[in-house]
Amino acid sequence: MTQATVSKTQDFLTEADRYSAHNYHPLPVVIERGEGSWVWDVDGNRYIDMLSAYSAVNQGHRHPAVIAAAKAQLDTLTLTSRAFHNDQMGPFLKMLCEVTGFDRALPMNTGAEAVETAIKMVRKWGYKVKGVPAGKAEIIVCENNFHGRTTTIVGFSTEDQYKDGFGPFTPGFKVIPYGDSDALEAAITENTVGFLVEPLQGEGGVVVPPEGFLTRVREICTANRVAFIADEIQTGLGRTGRMFCYDWDGVRPDILIVGKALGGGVYPVSAAIADTEFMDVYQPGDHGSTFGGNPLAAAIGLAALGVIIDEKLPERSDELGTWFMDQLRAIGSPHVEEVRGKGLMIGVVIKQSSGPARPFCKALQARGVLAKETHHQVIRFAPPLTITTDELEFALDHARAVLSE
Ligand SMILES: *Cc1c(COP(=O)(O)O)cnc(C)c1O
Repeated sequence: MTQATVSKTQDFLTEADRYSAHNYHPLPVVIERGEGSWVWDVDGNRYIDMLSAYSAVNQGHRHPAVIAAAKAQLDTLTLTSRAFHNDQMGPFLKMLCEVTGFDRALPMNTGAEAVETAIKMVRKWGYKVKGVPAGKAEIIVCENNFHGRTTTIVGFSTEDQYKDGFGPFTPGFKVIPYGDSDALEAAITENTVGFLVEPLQGEGGVVVPPEGFLTRVREICTANRVAFIADEIQTGLGRTGRMFCYDWDGVRPDILIVGKALGGGVYPVSAAIADTEFMDVYQPGDHGSTFGGNPLAAAIGLAALGVIIDEKLPERSDELGTWFMDQLRAIGSPHVEEVRGKGLMIGVVIKQSSGPARPFCKALQARGVLAKETHHQVIRFAPPLTITTDELEFALDHARAVLSE
């Protein structure tokens, strides 16, 4: 790496280590600037961002349209709370409903909050509409899931570390193997209100379910009057080569959860989205958020959606992702067990015999490519969807070098 003679990086690392909680294990790079697919560290080194903040930067760093909307709104109005209306939320939610094809959207901030919003919604629907006896509602989830970090959500995680020391947990969740529609059918009882699933597991290691899984899920949920809840926080808004990953199966969930890229890489914006049958169980006072639907978030969300549509980011992701995955497979690396994914959500699985994925990520960092391991053995490549072919070639050349060593 072309290090400056005096490295500022170490000072920042030392300071963060001293003053921050140690709940993350980041790569030792301190970023100070970003533009498009690129970021620069405090020592002036340039890197291509192949993680894009876990798909929260699908539009690229500081997309001009998103930044312009944010700046204009900063100069006008930023926060009212939901005690009053604001003039930005309506247009934003209208577009969100038009893009997704649902009746209503409930805006929140982080992904985990939108997941909680869907959980509360489907439970209340179960009691008020489906007629489940009080306190009996069951929600089915999958092994290896990732839906966020609240105490309720980690309670149905199957990752020991996410739960260890954080109990007691919220009851009412059942776990089935991911991608197993027969197990879903077998787990359903008269008290089942929802099935919460990632159409493709991101944090779980970029795991693609068997072909036709979501089609069967849709059939089973409809037949048993169980709400199909799709967590598209990471897979949605173009990441997998379709607007939503469930579009690959031509199905429609009952409740859709979005976040991450909805904030255009600028601001936390999330939402739970559904038709009136589900959404209208919420009455004034049932649920809320001080910041959810604030005018700054709404202006940014509207611009973020606009970029995804105007720049045809799902199509770009499909085209570039297919090409990039083919190229990665063509490397024929002795270290690679499998290259998998959809669109520009790609996992390179490192063989156990070649050790964990982290040293490969460190080697990529030294060459100016930022990628992060997930689940020990998987290098995730998920660049901004605005990335160019030349930029992808740059990442590919270095991936080829690192994986061939
Ligand atoms: C990131 C993520 C979440 C949690 O979002 P936060 O904004 O970190 O709370 C939930 N579900 C999935 C699938 C995610 O990838």
